[in-house]
Amino acid sequence: MTTKTQEEKASTRDMAGLLFGDLWDYAPAPESTEHVRYAQRYGHFINGQFVDGKDYFPTINPATEEVIAEFAAADEAEVDRAVQAARNAYDGVWSKMKPAERAKYIYRIGRLIQEKARELSILETMDGGKPIRESRDVDVPLVAAHFLYYAGWADKLQYAFPGARVSSLGVAGQVIPWNFPLLMAAWKVAPALAAGNTVVLKPAETTPLTAMKLAEICQEADLPPGVVNIVNGAGRTGAAIVNHPQIDKVAFTGSTDVGKIIQRAIAGTHKRLTLELGGKGANIIFEDAAIDQAVEGIIQGIFFNQGHVCCAGSRLLVQESVVDEVVQKLRIRMESLRVGDPLDKNTDIGAINSRAQLEKIHELVQSGVDEGAKLYQSSCSLPERGFFYRPSVFTEVAQSHRIAQEEIFGPVLSVLTFRTPEEAMKKANNTPYGLSAGIWSDKGSKLFSVAGAIRAGVVWGNTYNQFDPASPFGGYKESGFGREGGLHGLKPYLEVR
Ligand code: NAP
Ligand code: MG
Repeated sequence: MTTKTQEEKASTRDMAGLLFGDLWDYAPAPESTEHVRYAQRYGHFINGQFVDGKDYFPTINPATEEVIAEFAAADEAEVDRAVQAARNAYDGVWSKMKPAERAKYIYRIGRLIQEKARELSILETMDGGKPIRESRDVDVPLVAAHFLYYAGWADKLQYAFPGARVSSLGVAGQVIPWNFPLLMAAWKVAPALAAGNTVVLKPAETTPLTAMKLAEICQEADLPPGVVNIVNGAGRTGAAIVNHPQIDKVAFTGSTDVGKIIQRAIAGTHKRLTLELGGKGANIIFEDAAIDQAVEGIIQGIFFNQGHVCCAGSRLLVQESVVDEVVQKLRIRMESLRVGDPLDKNTDIGAINSRAQLEKIHELVQSGVDEGAKLYQSSCSLPERGFFYRPSVFTEVAQSHRIAQEEIFGPVLSVLTFRTPEEAMKKANNTPYGLSAGIWSDKGSKLFSVAGAIRAGVVWGNTYNQFDPASPFGGYKESGFGREGGLHGLKPYLEVR
């Protein structure tokens, strides 16, 4: 792998006017973990109670590699208990309750999340490695916002789909990934409950901690037992949920490979399915864009959450006439990114979620070097312990390179160029994925025409990675189908006749 010489590092600092780089540093500003509470061991949350499990596995803090707590891995029998609890709660309580009453519970969960926002943010950062700045300012506020937003729809379903009769589906089985653990749980649970369903949720193996806090919140909100059930475990537990005959709807967020397994597994059954899968988003910079703002958008697009973002702007398409300027400014800005302790409020880039993910990033970056792309990495120093990766950018990337085609899911950007808007659109669409894209231009007409030609569920104009509970999110092609957020996100949990 290419490493930079001292000379190259110095020249980047000169470009940036950051000569103080090695001489001056921010004082550490770590968030205190003193007031956070969690158990040393968690089983599952079934029928309103925390129950013991059988086999336990640890979850670690990826920034320190220290064990935080142990979690049980649910087998088929434990998943069956959770599904039965959800079925009984659906038949006996939740489906019979007045929608306005259901709304009160969902609203209460949202309010409790707001009250506990600080604790939830710290735990999310400890368990997953994301910077506290992001869990505090993005993840947890959005989690609360999703519950509050869907609470508002719970008693207005007949107005949501005028002229149609709507009814709930039954028990939803939901499986989520590790990149936005509590936010993905909120995206799944809030619309399901608002539509009148009960749920069995499985968080990812490396980030189960905040899901157990959500379980505590459900208890505190007095949610009727069995309406929300959370089982811990790995892929086998997820498969047991998906394959359980009494699940009526499967909602999955994760990799395209597992999405395909699930789609095959439930083909021919009565189960409804939504899949939110991977992506390889194009962030397109036209020569007439405000370049400094675009560079901020590129940084936000690829380095947010260490690049563990399904809709990351991981393919940068830059118009040829401005590529040198964009790449130079990008390198300067990358040098100022602070990589390190995720609990430090000054940190921009935290820890890679797991050793396995770090190895995957190393492997894909090596393939980029081997295939002939040019690698540039920030000269920052990395902590000695934990899983960290330098902000990286590849130039001289060809469409055929793996780093231009495959999801790296790390802080690694691939830069390609184009000459005309037509070429930009073709290149942007030249991927099996279709989740997200960004367009940067001073011309509104160009922005709208390019946006219309891109096969992606979300297209941002002169911004990137903006989310709102009222705005639907989801993919085309191998990025999956179905939408989360907004009215579109309610529909997959309803029978609309
Ligand atoms: P993953 O391996 O597909 O895992 C996702 C979840 O599925 C985890 O809870 C996992 O359990 C579970 N699982 C694994 N095998 C399963 C099986 N055979 N049946 C049922 N469940 C199974 O994905 P990941 O690597 O954790 O997450 C990263 C991926 O998620 C990326 O591709 C990213 O793009 C995608 N993602 C998409 C969106 C979106 O909205 N489109 C959002 C976030 C992430 P374990 O805990 O054992 O892994
Ligand atoms: Mg963890």
